[in-house]
Amino acid sequence: MIRQHQTPVRMQDPHTRIHNFTEVSPGYAEQEAIAEAERCLQCAHPTCVEGCPVHINIPGFIARVKERRFADAIAVIEEASYLPAVCGRVCPHEDQCEGACVMGKRFEPVAIGRLERFVADWDIAHGPCCPPVGPPTGRRVAVIGSGPAGLTVAGELRKRGHAVTIFERLPVAGGVLMYGIPAFRLPKDIVTREIGVLHRMGVQFELGRFVGRDYTLDELLATDYDAVFIGAGASLPRQLGIPGEDLPDVYTADNFLLHTNLVGLPEFPDYTDPPHVGKRVITIGGGNVAMDAARTALRLGAEESIILYRRTAAELPASGKEIACTTDEGVQFQFLTAPIRFTAVDDHLTRMECVRMKLGAPDASGRRRPVPIPGSEFTISADTAIVAIGNDPHPLVTRSTYGLELNRHGCINADPETGETSRPGIFAGGDIVTCPSTVVEAMGAGKRAAAAIDRYLRQKGE
Ligand SMILES: Cc1cc2nc3c(=O)[nH]c(=O)nc-3n(C[C@H](O)[C@H](O)[C@H](O)COP(=O)(O)OP(=O)(O)OC[C@H]3O[C@@H](n4cnc5c(N)ncnc54)[C@H](O)[C@@H]3O)c2cc1C
Repeated sequence: MIRQHQTPVRMQDPHTRIHNFTEVSPGYAEQEAIAEAERCLQCAHPTCVEGCPVHINIPGFIARVKERRFADAIAVIEEASYLPAVCGRVCPHEDQCEGACVMGKRFEPVAIGRLERFVADWDIAHGPCCPPVGPPTGRRVAVIGSGPAGLTVAGELRKRGHAVTIFERLPVAGGVLMYGIPAFRLPKDIVTREIGVLHRMGVQFELGRFVGRDYTLDELLATDYDAVFIGAGASLPRQLGIPGEDLPDVYTADNFLLHTNLVGLPEFPDYTDPPHVGKRVITIGGGNVAMDAARTALRLGAEESIILYRRTAAELPASGKEIACTTDEGVQFQFLTAPIRFTAVDDHLTRMECVRMKLGAPDASGRRRPVPIPGSEFTISADTAIVAIGNDPHPLVTRSTYGLELNRHGCINADPETGETSRPGIFAGGDIVTCPSTVVEAMGAGKRAAAAIDRYLRQKGE
């Protein structure tokens, strides 16, 4: 008989977890994973695979979980993904594989994300496997950025026998996985271990190298490298453009989360203490980044954490499971509200002036545009504010590269199927092309670009 509901997963109690950075959920135990795997219908035409941007053979790995063949299950996943422990934790599964699961048409979908995480954690605990690398081709590729896009390109190119060096501006690899997403959702040792697989595959890492400042892409292409992939992400925070935004108690979410994540990492000895937060913290925004910032503020000692969002709950761009966790932890929401000024006494934030909004006609994104309601201004007290309204690409790489076409947001114009840019031999993918998106979308772009780079290198060699 089909079980209609997912096998539940254990979670730390919200009252306890807001006082620690330990992962919210320990994930499935073996028996729980097998019970959930038994729910999979093993469809002849698995729509879940189409829903996954890197096309993991989902029924294939779940069938092996059901048979307790966990080493075989991870081998199936690693045919398509280098970051299963990451994706098992942070992918918006409900919009991707689980959203496309046939079981989900009538009952709860199979908990594919939790099963992926279980298999990946089992692999880490039992000495992770290492995907095979191809015979050396003599070709070399430079990858700019060590986030999910760059790591995926690197792994895929090593599989095909090309030598790969990743240039990363920070002294640690991992991109947003390491310095953006908080440890209570994605522990940093998990990221380090997954990157260890790429080290074992022979990927070289040049950490602390800022491309555009230390080298230009043209210098890399003129010297050691036959092709370049740019996966430099989107790390330039957007600003509200309102008075008081430069006060010391007003953070960008990027800086706030980066600072929190770097405390304790040996590569960052200067980050000894987390950012200071006051009693009442207000976060502005509605995506995963805003949820992460508001939840982090609680863990750093805020007594009240409030999210201001200018649309309604229905338009929140954060994933459903993150919104649920945020609400459970006691973060409050004020919808249809936008800040218009930060006010300080002796340089310390004391309050925010806000205005109520209503939803007008749809804008270019198809969502109804928020419009201020005249005369609805009001004041709210605040000790700390965190601005989480999105990011654009940092212009350093693109400005220092001649002939690279960009769109109006400063993102690189690249073919979505191949990552080809306006410059032959230069490919791009991930957030620097799409603006902030998701881990698995960046990985998918990396995978497609690696196939195109491989074709380019082989044609070049003929
Ligand atoms: C707080 C937060 C929470 C998120 N939560 C989720 C989530 O739950 N689920 C999800 O799927 N997605 C989430 N995302 C989005 C996701 O993390 C990104 O879409 C993804 O990391 C993009 O991958 P990327 O490889 O393109 O770029 P990044 O991960 O940004 O990596 C780019 C790398 O390039 C390096 N770099 C930049 N410029 C240079 C240069 N000039 N020279 C050398 N190196 C350079 C950067 O230091 C960085 O390491 C979140 C993002 C944030 C910020």
